[in-house]
Amino acid sequence: MIRHIIQLTRDFMSLLTGLRITFEQMLKPAITVQYPRKTIPMSKNFRGRIALVWDDAKHEPKCTVCMLCEKACPSKCISLTGVKAENRPGRTLATYQLDFTKCSLCGLCVESCKFDAIRFSDEYNSASTRKEDFHYDLLERVRRNRS
Ligand code: SF4
Ligand code: SF4
Repeated sequence: MIRHIIQLTRDFMSLLTGLRITFEQMLKPAITVQYPRKTIPMSKNFRGRIALVWDDAKHEPKCTVCMLCEKACPSKCISLTGVKAENRPGRTLATYQLDFTKCSLCGLCVESCKFDAIRFSDEYNSASTRKEDFHYDLLERVRRNRS
């Protein structure tokens, strides 16, 4: 009989502890949001897929087609081409493709760029069942975002 009373007391105390924790959490401010209806700003250190940086003064991407990022990528997921620039030395970016299915977000491409022409985007909610949807035309994207 005494053994049962001790066990019942323990169970009751355990129930009270659970209720105390529940009520404590109910009184704290919420740290989650109703995704996808609401989203939160991403941290500056967040690494989403890479993106080209636009030069507002020149109205074109900052990329100088030096190819360093393509060479630096250990996963071979960057491929870009350039054409000879008109009325100035150097080349103009013609295509910039990213195969995000192979990207490990290592950051070597961003670090290798001497012109701050690529950055990590804050895109975090890409979802698809098709691999092709993760093959990005970054030149088209940066132009679209500026138009
Ligand atoms: S390293 Fe920078 S400037 Fe050179 S090709 Fe890549 S993005 Fe363009
Ligand atoms: S983050 Fe790394 S793996 Fe991804 S494109 Fe850049 S260099 Fe390649």
